[in-house]
Amino acid sequence: LSTSSCPKVCVVGSGPAGFYTAQHLIKGRQDVEVDIYERLPVPFGLVRFGVAPDHPEVKNVINTFTQTAKHSRCSFFGNVNVGKDVTVDELQQAYHAVVLSYGAEGNRRMGVPGEDLPGVYSAKDFVGWYNGLPSCRELSPDLSCETAVILGQGNVALDVARILLSPLDILKKTDITQPALEALAESRVRKVLIVGRRGPMQVACTIKELREMGNLPGTRPEMVAADFEGVPEALKDLPRPRKRLTELLLKTALEVPGEKELERRGKATKVWGFRFYRSPTEILADPDHNRTAGIRLAVNRLEGSGERAQAVLTGEVEDVPCGLVISSIGYQSLPIDPTVPFDSRSAVVPNSVGRVHQAPGLYCSGWLKTGPTGVIATTLNNSFDTARSLLEDIDSGKLDVSVAKAGSQIVSSLLEERGVKAVTFSDWEKIDSLERRRGEACGKPREKLLTVEEMLKADTV
Ligand code: FAD
Repeated sequence: LSTSSCPKVCVVGSGPAGFYTAQHLIKGRQDVEVDIYERLPVPFGLVRFGVAPDHPEVKNVINTFTQTAKHSRCSFFGNVNVGKDVTVDELQQAYHAVVLSYGAEGNRRMGVPGEDLPGVYSAKDFVGWYNGLPSCRELSPDLSCETAVILGQGNVALDVARILLSPLDILKKTDITQPALEALAESRVRKVLIVGRRGPMQVACTIKELREMGNLPGTRPEMVAADFEGVPEALKDLPRPRKRLTELLLKTALEVPGEKELERRGKATKVWGFRFYRSPTEILADPDHNRTAGIRLAVNRLEGSGERAQAVLTGEVEDVPCGLVISSIGYQSLPIDPTVPFDSRSAVVPNSVGRVHQAPGLYCSGWLKTGPTGVIATTLNNSFDTARSLLEDIDSGKLDVSVAKAGSQIVSSLLEERGVKAVTFSDWEKIDSLERRRGEACGKPREKLLTVEEMLKADTV
């Protein structure tokens, strides 16, 4: 056993939260050592498996994460499923502190009849499919219909809409997977409706994503003018970011376009649009083929105004024919170990500034801590906060680091006993270079490996 008495911390999950927490800990103390355990053989969480392939600039954070991973006081152990291969309790025995940063891998269900029909997918699975998440490889979504309905109006919904409608020439140059590219090449989807239960002043997307939709080559927007009643008048009282977003939405929906834009829209072969004040009540089946043929939407009205406005049912319903429904109503964290406190109502680990309640030595960061909202920058801030809490606890003596801990030595031997082969960061670098080489051959930044088996084999190539 190693007897050095430096503080040993382990982080569970290698998405932005895991890496930003590790980065801040390493920077904060010259003696702290951080080990990162990751379920998959490849690091970076949703930066690899969530962020849209046509947003490569967002993935530049990987450079910073790589620097952290290569730091002499940081180690990466991929292919280790915490909760199954090693328990949180075992990690707590081996380390002075454990930070849970394993994200939000579940998805909220709509809770309506027909939800499990062929043709209905969660955005989480659909995104995982086009981004090469091994567990979504076999999704093979059926894109043979003309109209797709996306439920939810956040950035993930717009990512999905963009991928469904983007010209292939654009996607071909991204790291979207080859099977997804092939399926999209055969896609007959021409119309995408992005449905929200509230109004134009409550959409959850940001202005950049909305602007991208407006500029998407080969497409034109089609909205319902009546949905915007009262919106121009309310504009002046809106807070600034919301005001700019609403202005762009109004412009896209109602303004008569100039000559150039008119010409562009005239040539468009595909259509997208928001539909407001609608909640799903049922997915309608085609009786012959037992697959999705439409969606029944309840018509809502708003009670109150602003961000807190509530959707209230009017009693009216409307049926929209469509062959594809993608529900983008939120990711959800799941418990991974029965010994860890978990608030199943709000689906987060209960914590104060990252300190898990009633669990000394246990911390959390990222989407598991805050719930599945916010961009990478938000995750950075809340992860730094958690690291600060942990460092404070070391300084104040609340976290006892005087007794030496065995850290990865003991965990590695447990894993070996259990037949689990951990992937190191230099193994990942071999996977990375293989993927880049495969991509180069077809003009893409990378061609991802799609199965865990292939990933595990790549490091021996
Ligand atoms: P994750 O990124 O989910 O990381 C969690 C990690 O934990 C994963 O690697 C997972 O494999 C691992 N893990 C899970 N279970 C276990 C286990 N039992 N044992 C070990 N490891 C485990 N933000 C932006 O700023 N720009 C964007 O363009 C953008 N696009 C997005 C698109 C989508 C579809 C989604 C869903 C999110 C997007 N975001 C974007 C938000 C951003 O991805 C999140 O803010 C961020 O990834 C949250 O970080 P996290 O580390 O908490 O979770």
